[in-house]
Amino acid sequence: MLHIGCHLSSSGGYTAMVESALKIGADTFQFFTRNPRGSKGKEPSVEDIKNACALMNEHNFAPIVAHAPYTLNPASSREEVREFALDIFRDDLRILQMLDKSYYNFHPGSHLGDGADVGIQRTVEILNKVLFKDMKTTVLIETMAGKGSEIGSTFQEIKEILDGVELKDKVGVCLDSCHISDGGYDVISDFSSVLDEFDRIIGLDKLRAIHLNDSKNQKGAKKDRHEKIGDGYIGVESIKRIINEPRLKGLPFILETPNELDGYEKEIALLKSLYTLD
Ligand code: FE
Ligand code: FE
Ligand code: ZN
Repeated sequence: MLHIGCHLSSSGGYTAMVESALKIGADTFQFFTRNPRGSKGKEPSVEDIKNACALMNEHNFAPIVAHAPYTLNPASSREEVREFALDIFRDDLRILQMLDKSYYNFHPGSHLGDGADVGIQRTVEILNKVLFKDMKTTVLIETMAGKGSEIGSTFQEIKEILDGVELKDKVGVCLDSCHISDGGYDVISDFSSVLDEFDRIIGLDKLRAIHLNDSKNQKGAKKDRHEKIGDGYIGVESIKRIINEPRLKGLPFILETPNELDGYEKEIALLKSLYTLD
């Protein structure tokens, strides 16, 4: 069974997102916990979350993915930016305690010229402050494209972040197909070897979710511009290999392609038709 969904707007609340997902044939989805720029979100209704969870259980949803705001930069050289990241992180993890099965995906940040090692240390520091023992969600570090001074565009850097975390069972990785292709990994012609490398450096047991995107740019471009499935440089054949990779079986696949709901519905139908496992 292919667990697949897409990024949805959270403006109508949790139950509305589950209903949208069901309408387009999805059994998971991703959403921003608040405005993507990170302003204080309005407190979600407990009732709404309860209803959403009941509906997801009824329809056997895979875990859903909450995405941290883009402005959250735990690796920043500026103290106030790191304080902001800490506040948002804590508040989001508090809200996610209300959900049964979720992941919290974040970008490990940009070091803004201080070097990857320093950026990694700052991100580790924040993770060690916000993670707690009874956390229900798992925090996922997203693999990045490497634009600007982004950290996390190599498996080695992701591993270094994971190594620094004390509560190891509370963290995992989300692999973004567009980002790693832009970051120089050969998603286009040899995804199997990319996964071998992931396993060797990080360990496949750490991989919890996939962002399934085509890319507007060639391998190694470090651009991070997502394209519709089949319209980019990765292409439909390579994407077919990704969803049918036995080592990824059972993981939630989230589309973050430039689409409205009807476009996502078509992509989900296409991907289901290309799925050949079980
Ligand atoms: Fe992301
Ligand atoms: Fe992504
Ligand atoms: Zn991206």
